[in-house]
Formats: sequence, C-alpha cells, structure tokens
Amino acid sequence: MGDERKWVYGFEEVDDAETHVGGSWDGVRGLLGGKGANLAEMTRIGVPVPPGFTVTTEACNAYLEAGAQFPAEMWEQTLAALKQVEDKTGKAFGDASNPLLVSCRSGAKFSMPGMMDTVLNIGLNDEVVVGLVQLTGDERFAYDSYRRLLQMFGSVVLGLDGEPFEEVLSEYRKMRGVDNDAALPPEVLKEAVERFKNLAPGFPQEPVDQLRLATEAVFKSWNGKRAFDYRNAAHIRHDLGTAVNIQTMVFGNMGDDSATGVAMTRDATTGEDHIEGDFLINAQGEDVVAGTRPTKTMDDMAVEMPELYGQFREIAKNLERHYREMQDMEFTVERGKLWILQTRDGKRTAQAAVRIAVDLAEEGLITKETAVMKVTPDQVDFFLHPQFSVQAKKAAVESGSQIATGLNVSPGAAVGVVAFDADLAEKWAKDDGKRVIMVRLETKPDDVHGMLAAQGILTKLGGRTSHAALVARQFGKPAVVGIAALDIDMANRQMTVDGRVIKEGDWISIDGTVGEVFTGALATVVPDLSDPWLEKLLEWADEFRTLGVWANADYPIDAERARQNGAEGIGLCRTEHMFFEADRLPVVQKMITTKSDVERRKALDILLPLQREDFAGLFRAMDGYPVIIRLIDPPLHEFLPAFEDLTSELADLRVKAAAGQDVAGQLAETQEMLERVEALREANPMLGTRGVRLGIIMPDLTKMQVRAIMEAACAVANEGVDVHPEVMIPLTSHVNELRRQQTVVESEAKVVMEEQGIEIDYKFGTMIEIPRAALTAAEIAEYAQFFSFGTNDLTQTTFGISRDDAESGFLVDYLREGILPENPFASIDESGVGRLMQWAVQEGRATRPDLEIGICGEHGGDPKSIDLCHRLGIDYVSCSPFRVPIARLAAAHSAIVHR
Ligand code: PEP
Ligand code: MG
Repeated sequence: MGDERKWVYGFEEVDDAETHVGGSWDGVRGLLGGKGANLAEMTRIGVPVPPGFTVTTEACNAYLEAGAQFPAEMWEQTLAALKQVEDKTGKAFGDASNPLLVSCRSGAKFSMPGMMDTVLNIGLNDEVVVGLVQLTGDERFAYDSYRRLLQMFGSVVLGLDGEPFEEVLSEYRKMRGVDNDAALPPEVLKEAVERFKNLAPGFPQEPVDQLRLATEAVFKSWNGKRAFDYRNAAHIRHDLGTAVNIQTMVFGNMGDDSATGVAMTRDATTGEDHIEGDFLINAQGEDVVAGTRPTKTMDDMAVEMPELYGQFREIAKNLERHYREMQDMEFTVERGKLWILQTRDGKRTAQAAVRIAVDLAEEGLITKETAVMKVTPDQVDFFLHPQFSVQAKKAAVESGSQIATGLNVSPGAAVGVVAFDADLAEKWAKDDGKRVIMVRLETKPDDVHGMLAAQGILTKLGGRTSHAALVARQFGKPAVVGIAALDIDMANRQMTVDGRVIKEGDWISIDGTVGEVFTGALATVVPDLSDPWLEKLLEWADEFRTLGVWANADYPIDAERARQNGAEGIGLCRTEHMFFEADRLPVVQKMITTKSDVERRKALDILLPLQREDFAGLFRAMDGYPVIIRLIDPPLHEFLPAFEDLTSELADLRVKAAAGQDVAGQLAETQEMLERVEALREANPMLGTRGVRLGIIMPDLTKMQVRAIMEAACAVANEGVDVHPEVMIPLTSHVNELRRQQTVVESEAKVVMEEQGIEIDYKFGTMIEIPRAALTAAEIAEYAQFFSFGTNDLTQTTFGISRDDAESGFLVDYLREGILPENPFASIDESGVGRLMQWAVQEGRATRPDLEIGICGEHGGDPKSIDLCHRLGIDYVSCSPFRVPIARLAAAHSAIVHR
C-alpha cells in the first residue's frame, strides 16, 4: 500500500502546509523549517524568490528513524516537485543545452547558523558544464561553479577534508600572483576541476544522484556532533529534524552586473534602524560569508548599485513589517535582477535586541507586551556585562599594551589566557577553571564548544556576519574579528601582532564593544544602566509585573545602585557584613570573647553608632521604601581567628617566653582567645549557634542592633525621610524563639521611640529557612508580620547538603549524571523546597492574611525561580542590585505568560 503522506511542498504550496499543521505558523516552521517556511511565505507575499521546494522535517525524522531510508514516496514527490521547477524556469535538470542548477540546503525550525550543510550548483557535470559555457559565453563562471560543486560535495556529502581542495586553489593563486579565486582564469579553473575530481572520486556525474546524496547528507547532518552541541547550548530539542530546501540557483558571479550579499534590516550590534551588511560584486554567497575576500558594506551598494539597493531596501522594509521583526536576508543579483534567497529573524546583540524591541513597539509594529517578551532576562544580564574600567583602559593605551583593533561584533569586555584551539579552550576552562580567550584564524561550527567555554573570541578573518560573530552574539560572548594584523603560528602555538609575540597561555583582554585587543589582564567594571532603550523596556516590564522587586544590600552604596536599577525595597541587609570591616572586627571580637558583661556592653556601645550610621544611609537611599534589616546570623567563631592559627601563635610565644622575651601580656591574651575559640568550636557550625540562637543567648546584641536601627530610623525621619524599617530574625525553627526575640525587639524599639519622641512604622518578621519553620508557618505568623524565604539555607537544610561544599563536590557528579536535573542552589527545587514554600505561604496567610512574603536567597535573581515565586503568589523577590533589572523583566514575563 502506498504511503499517501505529503513529504514535499513547493514554495507556492504554503497554504497546504498550513492546513497540514492545523493552521499555525509555528507548525509551518516546524514542518518546513524556518528557512523553508520563510521562502514559502516570501513567495506568497510576492517577494522575488527563485523557484524551489522543501522536503519536510517529517521526512528527515522518518529517514533517520528508518536507519537512513527515505520514506515511501518521498523521492518520487521530490522528483515531481523538481519537474515543476523545471516548468517554471523553462530549464531542465541535467540538460546540457539549458541546464537547471539547484542548491540543497538544510533548514531546521530554529536557525542554527552554519551548523548544518549546504551544497550549491547541483546539476553540473562534465557535459552540463560545457553546455553552460555555451549558454553563458562565460567559461570562467561555468568552471568556477563546477569546482565549487565538487568542493562542497566533497566535504559535505563525501565527508572529505577541505584542506587539499584549498591547497590546490592556493597553489594556483600563488602561481598566478592573485589573491582571490575570482581572479583565476578559466583554463586554471578547468584544471582545478580535473584535480578536484581526483580528490573526490565518489562524485556522481548523474545530477539526480547528486541531488539524492546531498539530500541524505543534509538529513544526516541533523545528528552531526556540531549540530548536537549547538542544540544543547541553545536549548533546542533534538527530535525536531531538519528540512531540506531545494531551490533554483541564481548566480551573483556572472559579471559586474551580478552581486551577492547578506544584510540585516537593522544594525545587529547597536539596533540602529540602518541596513547593515556585506556584499560583493561578481561573487557567490559563500565568498561573503567565508570572509575570504574583503567585503563591501551595504552603504557601498547604495552608491555602486543605487537602483538595486533601492529595491532591496523596499523589500527589506516590507519583510520587516510583515514579520514584525528585524530580518537577516541573503540576496543575489543575477545580471541586474534582484533575488531574495533567504530571510529570517536576525540574530543580534543584547543591546540591539532591547533597542529593536522598543523601536518596533514605538513604530507600532508590535505591542509593548510583545516587546517585553522579545527580550530575555539573559540578554538583560548580558547588557550588564563587565566593561573595562576607564582608568584601566587609559593606562593600557598609554603603556602601549593595546596591540590591535578589529571589528566589534559582540560587546562586552573579556579577559583570559590565549588558547589556539577549541578543545584546549574547553579543557582549560572546564577542567582547570581558567578564563580563556579563544583565538582562531576564523571559527567554524566545530569550534562552538570552545567558544562556549571561552570568555571571549578573537579571529583574524571574518566580518560582522561571520560564524564567529553570529555565534558570539547569540551566546553573549565578547568577540573581536577581522584583525588583519594578526599572524597565528599554530606550529609554535603563538601569535604575532606588529612584531609582538603572544604565546598560548599568555593573558590578553578584548573589548568587543569597540573592537580592541590588549595584552595583559585589564580591570573590568559593570556599567550603569543608562541605556535609554533598556530603561524604557524595563518601565514597560514594570507595567506588566505583579511581583515586587527588591534588593539585597548591605551598604548605602549598594542600596543606591539598587534603587537606580529599579528596586522597590531592601529585602535583606546582612548586618554581620558591617561587623567584618577591618576597624570594627577587634571590637566585635572583644564583644564575643569577653566574659565580663561590662566589657561586652562597652564593645556594643562602640558598635552602636557605627551600625546606626550604616542603617541611616540605607534608609536615606530607600526613602519611601521598606528596608529589611536582619539581625546577626553567622556562627560567632567566624569573627574570630582560626583555632589552628592561634595554637601555632601560642607555641611561638611560648618559645619566645622561654628565651626570656617579655611576651607575657600577649601570651595571656592569646591564651584567652584560644580558650574562647575552643569553647565556641562546633562540629557543624552551620547547624550550631547561629541565627536567632545568638540573639537568644546574647540579648544585649539584639538590643544593640534594634537600638541602632530605631535610632537611625528616628534620626532620618526627623530629616524628612519616609522610613519603613523591618526587623528580621534569621534561622527561626520554633515559634518560641520568635516569641522571645519579639519581646526584646519590641521593648527596645519602644524605649528608643519614646526617647526620640517619634513613632516609626516598623515591622517584625522572620526568615523562613528551616523546614520546620515552613511547616509550622501558621504558628510563626502569629508573631511574624512578614516572612522572607532564605532559600540558600532552606535548600541546604531541606536537602541536607552543605551549601558551602556541595557545588565543588559531589553535586557536580549528581548534575553530570542527571541524578539531580539542575543545581538546587541556582534554581529552586520546585517539588521539594518549592512545596515547603507553598505550604508556608498558605499557612502563614491563613493566620495573617496581610502577611508580607518575599524571598531573599540567591534564587531571587534567577528567572526560573522568579517564575515559581510568581506562581506561589508571594509579594516580592529580593536579589543582588545588579540582578534587579533581570528580575524586573523575568517577573513581567511570568505575569504575561501566566495571565
Ligand atoms: C538564605 O539562607 O537564603 C539567606 C538569604 O541567608 P544567608 O545566605 O545570609 O544565610
Ligand atoms: Mg540563611
């Protein structure tokens, strides 16, 4: 029984394809691949597209599943579609007197640039090439096309090494004293063809065989290693398959009225509304992409081919309006006629993504909501990537360590040691934890694993549309390409720029924002959020999100940054960080080690004004917003010298004393410190005397901190600041702990407010970071006016794994082996920790409906965890000031997606 399925769709059959998938455009893209769907769509809206057809992804999957067997009828349908193309073009496949040549290209649902295969000029053979010469009168063109077919067929279909082919060409170029293949005369190309045939003995003369083998090769390339690695990195499913697009060849290398190019409808680096791209007169597409000939810009095309540029511009703008998205297009001009070969949504830098989304919304092409959804939290993260500090850069320039400039194709600053191949880059980064800059002549899809592992990428060849540029941009890796002055000597594993030698393993710094390269490791800074487009996008995000976004900040400067970035409160101030400051530590140690209450009070009296100042600064910065101040949390021994250090110090002092030196005072002091440290030593300090337990055994400490908070609040309130302190108790596990602390906090707060004669609106609450607290949230909420999930400790205590050690220990194996699907310290474990949170939210609100609930663990800045928080209906997330913009966008995405 014949299989009735349709495996092949002509470009003009997009309506049928749409019906087949139930009417959705996403379905069409799934069936025909992104490239095929767009070719069909362009055909539908009247864009000049060379006739062709698409073999579906379903056919690819059926082929791969059947162990490399075309499904029944597929090949027959392919040949029938080819016949229709023959009818449309009036040419015939394999007919030497009027030959049809086709390209055979991969095209998956999601674009995977350069990851899969393409063969051009299919249909040429020894006979057809002669016919082509007669038809075009252009022997150079005909043999150049044939040698290209042999070369591509050799590498893509027959799996041959590309080098020997390149060597032949380079030998001829040298012999003829020319620097590009276009300048090789016909007789040389003819000779090259003969030599290429010897290099590729498996090349079939029969055009239909060429097409069949090329189709199979494209199908198989879906499962190639580089495609597989790319999909893993880009989170693309492995079961989608690729379509194959078979399309009439048009030639940009038929003389000076022919050209070819790639262009984006907007600037892919900055997002500016300006057509940007590369083009070459009398060349084929691969010449542009490979970067082997210096390309011209689209601005040059406007001057050199004004009419055609005008046509291109109009089509580009139409396509942009049609897809409501910036387009990346390939085009060819064949003897004065413009053809569009491909369009797809253009890859872009994070900066460009933001600007384009905002501009498209302001031009009325998309809604604000769509604009917000178009930008990913990762892109905003990348926006905030380090740049070189102005001073570091100035010093580098002055000292002459700037060695080169190239194209600034992917912004951001990167610092690392030079690695000249992808495997080494990956090894150094993954196994040895080194920061690496991968330096290559140019990058190929095989290099992607090294690019992903590297901090940044540098290449000698290539332009803005080169593989290195596209991939770097997509993954947010700073990159500089096209550094002509760079000589890479692979044999000696070193590179030379202007006579300066840099060896593999040496440090360099690259600035992908401006395209500069420096020797050494330059200092970096994270930029301010001053981009007007980003500000606008985040304002729009704020209109959609329902979650509040607060920040964790310990110092006024952090609070100011947080506020600039859009934080609406401080969700966590870790007061102990203030204790660690060099001038305070001895006082803190005194407070901990002394046995005398009087001495302790003295130490606390010294700390009080210092803390008060810190808190006042936070309150001023957050005028009008809540500020949660957590009382001291870590085990006390963290503030004291290490036991081992003290023991060896004591031994030294004893030796000195025995030798008659006067060290009696020091000896007694060290001895006392050692005893105290010993007394405080715990086998499991993270489960020991820390958090609320400290406040319970040292109520004076709680009192001092509450006094500092309330005195600061009264003082700034008197300055006219709108102040809302919230006092947070850490590590509560039992309601009785909270009850005790509440008495101390309330009485001290009352005393201070009476002293100062002013009422402060403050709250009393607790961290929920121990499972027991989550489970007994109903009781806890009787005392707590707010909860803040400390998901760092909650993850640690729920899993029973150490937050300090696990990520460099067994957790790595757990993740590699898939025992845990992801790192629970990075994204909240929804089914365990998340359920405890859900329970705590529900129980806490049952007791106290207006309970304020937030999260202040590291997860507060993680988009996936933010989504969970949105679904749990908590009030806000609190994260590092730097992640506030990311959290604002992620929260908006959740609100839109779960509406
Ligand atoms: C937490 O445990 O999630 C938390 C925010 O507190 P810390 O990291 O200071 O223990
Ligand atoms: Mg904690």
